Amino acid sequence: MTTLYSMTSTPKIYKTEAIVLRHFAIGEADYLLTLYTPNRGKLRAVAKGARRVKSKLGGHLEPLMSTSLLITRGQNLDTVNQAEALEVFRSVREDLNKLSQALYMVELVDTITLEEQPNYPIYRLLLDALRALAGDAPPSLLPFFQLRLLGHTGFMPELYQCVECGSTLVPGLHSFMPGRGGTLCNSCHPPKVSVLPLSLNSLKVLRFLQREEYISIERLRLEPETLVEVERLLEAMLQYVLDREVRAMRFLNQVRPGQNAGGNRHVYDIQHAVQSQDGLLR
Ligand SMILES: [Zn+2]
Repeated sequence: MTTLYSMTSTPKIYKTEAIVLRHFAIGEADYLLTLYTPNRGKLRAVAKGARRVKSKLGGHLEPLMSTSLLITRGQNLDTVNQAEALEVFRSVREDLNKLSQALYMVELVDTITLEEQPNYPIYRLLLDALRALAGDAPPSLLPFFQLRLLGHTGFMPELYQCVECGSTLVPGLHSFMPGRGGTLCNSCHPPKVSVLPLSLNSLKVLRFLQREEYISIERLRLEPETLVEVERLLEAMLQYVLDREVRAMRFLNQVRPGQNAGGNRHVYDIQHAVQSQDGLLR
C-alpha cells in the first residue's frame, strides 16, 4: 500500500535504520527482505546479489539484525544499495531460548503490521526487546512485549472494566474474553463465546505490565503459573487479532527451560523452525 506519507516525504534515495524481520531467497542470488524501520514502518526491499559470497551486503542483512541502509525507491519494490549491521545480537542467536523468543517477536511484528504504516513505538519496542534479550532479560519481557504490541496497534486489552456490562472490576475471580478485548466481571457469563479464567494475580500483573516502563518490569519476579496464565491470555488475544496462530510460538514452547527433552531435539527443532519461517535464518 502506498501512503501519502511515502509519496510526498521519502526521496528517491534515502537512508534508514531497520530491523530485519525476515529474508527470503529469490532469483539467482538475491534476498527479498522484510524490514521494520523507525519512520516508514514495515517495508519490503530487494537486496541484489546479497547471497553471493563476495557481496558487500552479505552478513549485514540477517534476520534480527539492526542495520543501517541506503535504499533506492522503486516503482514496485525498493532496492538496498548499502547495508551496515549496527547490532547483530550474537548472544540471542547463540541461545535457543533467546532465539525462540526473538523469532516469536519478529513474527508478531511482521504479522500484526501493514506495510508503509509508520509506527515508531513498535520499532522502539522491538529494538529494546532485542537489546533486553541480548542481556539478561527476565521472563516477564515476553508478556510485556505482547501487551505493548497490542497497545501500539490499537488492541490494548481492557483491564479495569467488564467488557460486557461496563462495571468497574472489583477484586475477585474474573475471566478474559479475547473476542471482546478484555476482562469480564464474575457476574457476566455471555453464552457461546470463548472465555479464559483470569486470576487476581494475573490481572494485577497485566495492569502492572500495561502501566510500567521496562525498567520496572526488569525487577518483576513472577510465579511460574502466573507467567503461564498471563502469556496464554495474551497469546489468545493475539490469535484473535491476527486470526491465526503465531507459528514461532510452537518453537518457543519447545525450547523453553524445563520443556525440552534432550539436546538432540534442539537440532530438529531449530531446523523445523527455520523451515517454517520460510528460510528465516538461512
Ligand atoms: Zn460484567
